[in-house]
Amino acid sequence: MHSAAGLQRAQQIHLPGNRLPARWAGRTRFVVLDTAFGAGHHFLATWQAWRDDPQRCETLFFVGIEEHPLPAADLAQAHAHSPWPDLAALLQAAWPVPVSNLHRQVFEGGRVQWLLGVGAAPSLLPKMRLQADAVFLGHVMPEVVAGHFLKAVAAHAAPGATLASAQHGAALHQPLLTAGFVPQTVSLAGQSAALSAALTAADFAPRHRLHRAPSAEVRGRRAVVVGAGLAGAAAAQALAQAGWQVTVLERHQAPAQETSGNPGGLFHGTVNADDGPYARLFRAAALRAHTTHAAAVAQGVPGAAQGLLRLDARSGGLPALQAMLQRTGLPPSYVEVLSADAASALAGLPLPAPAWHYPAGGWIEPLAWVRWALATPGVALRTGAAVQRLQRATGAPGAPAAWQVLDAEDQLLAEADAVVLCNAAQAQALLAPLAGPGTLPWPLRHTRGQVTQFSAAHTLRLPVAGDGYAIPLPGAMLCGATREAGEPGPPSLRDEDHHHNLERLQRLTGLQPAPEASLSGRTGWRLHTDDRLPICGALQALQMPPGQRADQARLLPREPGLFVLTALGARGLTLAPLLAQLVAAQASGTPWPLEQDLVDAIDPGRWRVRAARQATGATGKAG
Ligand SMILES: Cc1cc2nc3c(=O)[nH]c(=O)nc-3n(C[C@H](O)[C@H](O)[C@H](O)COP(=O)(O)OP(=O)(O)OC[C@H]3O[C@@H](n4cnc5c(N)ncnc54)[C@H](O)[C@@H]3O)c2cc1C
Repeated sequence: MHSAAGLQRAQQIHLPGNRLPARWAGRTRFVVLDTAFGAGHHFLATWQAWRDDPQRCETLFFVGIEEHPLPAADLAQAHAHSPWPDLAALLQAAWPVPVSNLHRQVFEGGRVQWLLGVGAAPSLLPKMRLQADAVFLGHVMPEVVAGHFLKAVAAHAAPGATLASAQHGAALHQPLLTAGFVPQTVSLAGQSAALSAALTAADFAPRHRLHRAPSAEVRGRRAVVVGAGLAGAAAAQALAQAGWQVTVLERHQAPAQETSGNPGGLFHGTVNADDGPYARLFRAAALRAHTTHAAAVAQGVPGAAQGLLRLDARSGGLPALQAMLQRTGLPPSYVEVLSADAASALAGLPLPAPAWHYPAGGWIEPLAWVRWALATPGVALRTGAAVQRLQRATGAPGAPAAWQVLDAEDQLLAEADAVVLCNAAQAQALLAPLAGPGTLPWPLRHTRGQVTQFSAAHTLRLPVAGDGYAIPLPGAMLCGATREAGEPGPPSLRDEDHHHNLERLQRLTGLQPAPEASLSGRTGWRLHTDDRLPICGALQALQMPPGQRADQARLLPREPGLFVLTALGARGLTLAPLLAQLVAAQASGTPWPLEQDLVDAIDPGRWRVRAARQATGATGKAG
C-alpha cells in the first residue's frame, strides 16, 4: 500500500471512525485490531497519535494481520515518504521473519506492543485470542464470507468496542449488524479523492449473549513464581515486563541448580514437511528465543545468537533436504539447506554432511541466562524457600481469593493474586491435594542426560547439532548429551557417557580432546510428557463442575490465578521465553502471542480432553 493512501486511511477513517485518540484517554491499556496491516502505515499513524496525546493510554497494543508481509528489503521503500521516519525505522528494524506465526515486538519500553499475525485474516483471526477496543477493518470480501469473517471480528470485540472501515453501504452494514455491530455511514466531505466519500463507523452492541472461551485474566498484579530454573526465570521476566510484582521462590540457595544449570545449551527452530502444530509452535518459540537470547548476549550473558547448523545425513542427501525445504516454503531468514562444503565454511571446520542452517539459532549459558532474567526490574528472588503447599486465602465475597504459598512448617512464604508453577515435576505434587478426580496426574517422564566439557583451542564458529551436539564455549568445547529414561537420582558423572559424547563429537566435527585434557561435565534430568509437548498456561479448574463440557481444551473452566509452565523436555531454552509470554498474556488479559490451536496443544488440561473424547468415542484433534 502506498504510504500516502495508508496514512490518509488511518487519519481520516480508522482513527476518527473509532473516536481515537479520545477513547483511549486515561485507560491502562487499549487494543487496536487492524485486519489489513499492509506495510504498517495505520500502525505508524496510530503510534504517532498515541505519542502526541498527553491523555494516552498507559499501554497501546496494536494487533495486525497480514497475509503477505512485504519483504524486509522493500519496507524502507514503502516508508520512504512516511512523515514519521523515526517510527518507520523502528518498525523496519523489528520486521519479522515472514513465516505464518504470530510475531510480537515491543517499543517505547513496552508501552507500545505490536503483534503481527502472518496469514489470511479469515482463517487466522478465529485462532487468535484478544479483546479489541477498536477495529480497523480492511477490505471485506463478498457478503457470505463477510458475514462469517465479521463474526470472527465480533468474537474478539471488547465490551464497548468500535469499528471503522473505508467501505460503506448495505453490503457491509447488514453483516455487521448480524455480527453485533451497529453501523452508521459517516460522510467525509472534502476528503481526498484517494478515499471514498464516506466511511462506516460502528459500535459493538450485541443483542445476543456472547459465548466466549473462559478467560484466565487475573485482577491483581502480584505474582509468585515457584522454581528458579529456565521456566521460572522466563515467567518472572515476562510477568514483570507486563507490569507485575513478582516473587520467585526457589528451594535451593541459588537459582538454576537443577536441570537448568548446564554450561551451555542450544536453541533453534525445526522443519517438518507438513508444517503442523508442532513445527509452528517450535518455530514461533525459536524466533522469540532468538530475540530474547540476543538481548541477553548483548548484555553479557555467555552465548551467541548468530546461527546454528543441524547436520542431516538422511538418504537422498542434499537434494532430499532441498526438496523438503521447498515443500515447506520457509524463507532463508528462518532456515536454509547448505551443502557439507558450505556448512563447513560457515562452521570453520570440515563437516561430514549437508546441514540445515538456522540463522536465528544459537547457544547460551542457561545458568547465566536465568540470573539475567531474574535481574529484571520487578522480580524479587527468594532462595532457600521450598514450597510445600498452596491454599486460598479468605477473600472478599464474589471475588477469587488470593493464593497463599506455604513451606513445610506451614509458614506463609508469600501471598499473591497469581501463582505460576515452574518447579518441574514437583508442580504436580503441589497440585495433587487440591485436585479433583480426573484432573491429574500428568503423564510425566524423566530422561537422564550428561554433557561433557574440555578445554580446547578450536576453530568452530557455530554450534553444530545432529546425532549429538558441539557447542563452542570460549576456550572450551561442550558436547552432549546422553539420553536415558529413568527417574532422577544422584547427579554423578559416568565415564562411559563421556566416551559416548566424545564419539559423537568426533563423528559430527572431527574434534577430540587433547590427550592431556581433563573432562568435566554435568548431569540433569529432562522432564517430558507422553506427547513431547510442554505443559503451559492457565490451569484447568481443579474441581471440575459436574457435567462440564470437556471435549475442547479452550472450553475448560480455569482455576483462577493458577498457571503452570513445565515439561520443557530437551528444549527449555527454545520454549521458555515464548511460553512465559503466553502465561503473562493470559494472566494480564492482553493479546496472546500464540494461536489458540497451539495453546490447546500445550494446555495443562489436554489429558482431560483426551479422556472426555475417549469416553464419548469422539475423534479428531483438540480445537
Ligand atoms: C544434559 C542436558 C542437556 C540439555 N541440553 C539442552 C539444550 O541444548 N537446549 C535446551 O533448550 N534444553 C536443553 N536441556 C533441557 C533444559 O535444560 C530443560 O528444558 C530446562 O532446564 C527445564 O527448566 P525448568 O525450569 O522447567 O526446570 P528446572 O531447571 O529443573 O527448574 C525447576 C526449579 O524448581 C525448583 N523447585 C522444585 N520444587 C520446588 C519447590 N517445592 N519449592 C521451590 N522450588 C522448587 C528446583 O529447585 C529448580 O530450581 C538439556 C537438559 C539436559 C539434562
